[in-house]
Amino acid sequence: MCGIVGYVGSRNAVPILMEGLKRLEYRGYDSAGIGCVVRGKLKVVKKEGHLANLEAILPEGLSSTTGIGHTRWATHGGVNDANAHPQIGAGGKVAVVHNGIIDNYDALKKRLIAEDVAFTSDTDTEVIAQLAAKFLDAGDDPETAVRQTLELIHGTYGLVFLFADHPGLIIGARNGSPLVLGVGEGEMFIASDANAIVRHTPKVVYLDDGETVVVTADDFSTKDLRAAVVDKRVETIEWVAADTDKNGYQDYMLKEIFEQPESVARAFGEGGRLVPEFGTAKLGGLNLERRDFFDIRRVQIIAMGTAYHAAMIGAHLMETIARIPARAEIASELRCRNPIVEKETLYFAVSQSGETADTLMTLREIRSKGGRVMGVINVVGSTMARESDGGVYVHAGPEMAVASTKAFTSQVMSFVLIALLFARMRDLSLSDGKSLVADIGLLPDLMRRVLAQAEEVRRIARKYSSAASFLYLGRGPSYPIAMEGALKLKEIAYVFSEGMSAGDVKHGPIALVNEEMPVVMVAVKGDNLEKTIGGMEEIRARKGRVIAVTNVDDPRITRIAEDVIQVPETREALSPLLTVIPLQLLAYYIAVELKRNVDRPRNLAKSVTVE
Ligand code: GLU
Repeated sequence: MCGIVGYVGSRNAVPILMEGLKRLEYRGYDSAGIGCVVRGKLKVVKKEGHLANLEAILPEGLSSTTGIGHTRWATHGGVNDANAHPQIGAGGKVAVVHNGIIDNYDALKKRLIAEDVAFTSDTDTEVIAQLAAKFLDAGDDPETAVRQTLELIHGTYGLVFLFADHPGLIIGARNGSPLVLGVGEGEMFIASDANAIVRHTPKVVYLDDGETVVVTADDFSTKDLRAAVVDKRVETIEWVAADTDKNGYQDYMLKEIFEQPESVARAFGEGGRLVPEFGTAKLGGLNLERRDFFDIRRVQIIAMGTAYHAAMIGAHLMETIARIPARAEIASELRCRNPIVEKETLYFAVSQSGETADTLMTLREIRSKGGRVMGVINVVGSTMARESDGGVYVHAGPEMAVASTKAFTSQVMSFVLIALLFARMRDLSLSDGKSLVADIGLLPDLMRRVLAQAEEVRRIARKYSSAASFLYLGRGPSYPIAMEGALKLKEIAYVFSEGMSAGDVKHGPIALVNEEMPVVMVAVKGDNLEKTIGGMEEIRARKGRVIAVTNVDDPRITRIAEDVIQVPETREALSPLLTVIPLQLLAYYIAVELKRNVDRPRNLAKSVTVE
């Protein structure tokens, strides 16, 4: 996690770093700091808490043409000023910002302490600064000092170094945590995420693991671990900085919830992915030969968090539409079991950022055993996108709120397309394919109709906002939606909630239900409706307060439920794209009611890049 930004050029680095950190704050907000070189000396300012705290103590007139910045999501060492980055080496000649974890920091630290190095923080990161300082003291040039340091540390890192005696130089290194270089005219940028630099230049170079980059205002050179020069491609980012603005909304999360009709339309529209005349989808990025579709016997989808809920829906779609046995797995759990990789199984890895460490490591494990893994990824050029055998970009656009909303619906839409393509390559008839394509095309408008009820959801949120805990129930494709609704509420409102199968609730959890317990139930037209309504009766019989999200006009539901959120009708397989929206809004408005920081929920950060 954590955000990194660096600048070298002719402008004042300080406002550029601060602006970059603002764009990155969603990646970590325990503390923040910047470092720059002023008259041959390192000047480091850092502060616990949100970026505003750092802003408040920045010395007026601080100016430098070279600098680095960091927003932290602590892994080693508490949240305080001393542990904030940049970390400085003894003698004040080198500073470093770090994203990741140094596994052998303890042994290195003991060794350095035995050599009389005085540590000033509890972070794993400080050993990097102290080692680099030692090598510089011994007479190494900055590049050699960094290289020597990298040889000693084991773990994951995105690093940027700054040197007191070399203004106009920064050095980056990557192993397991993303780093991207921004190439400007007479100035260069480096960041953990292109968001931080896109307003300055669309030209970027993505570093790969094991690479270092030496950056000056006019030039950069990338090398591998053996110090051999690596030629890198300069790529152009397609989205613009305005995509990362709030556009008048109170928070990014609300903006992103309301963006979903457009983002989902992009997921199926981008590159003409729907082919109405053949009732199918075109997904060239999968790199699959026609024959491959016959050879695949099973699908396994790995993901974490919200992406895991999209994966569950993906598995459901693959089974019901394409009739291929499919299951979703929490990536870290699959990895724990030493995965059995099968030749006839096609694997999918779902991740908004394409950097989620648990999913990435599992992807690597599967691939190392010969498995074929497709990415379902939002961030173009991310590690998973580059390391998978093919895949689908979900085209949600930059997602800034920590709690994922629009990336989720775009992931689900991507699986609709994948299932449709597989189905048409196998059993689905032309006319059934055409009818599904037509239904997909209607979704953005139906989503708009759901969003038009935001005020009603807000009223309901107010009514239940003081409840101590919530249950969310659903069956079939509504089961992952129940889990997603509950997760949203936990994430941003800090209200205990549990999402579960409406079938399973009777096997224990129903004991929790009493007259104080709101139970959100998703009941959509289709095979599971009657049983879901039966379940509502059972909850009501135990005095639970049912909030129904439904697309049927059924007098039984209006009788049983205390509140009803009506969504437009669509086929059951597509219903998650509509039913999830009221649940996102419900969590959002409850969080607002409870005065939570919606975009920066406590203890969390976007894209979990540590295992
Ligand atoms: N492990 C480092 C620390 O705890 C870096 C954490 C981060 O990625 O923000 O300071």
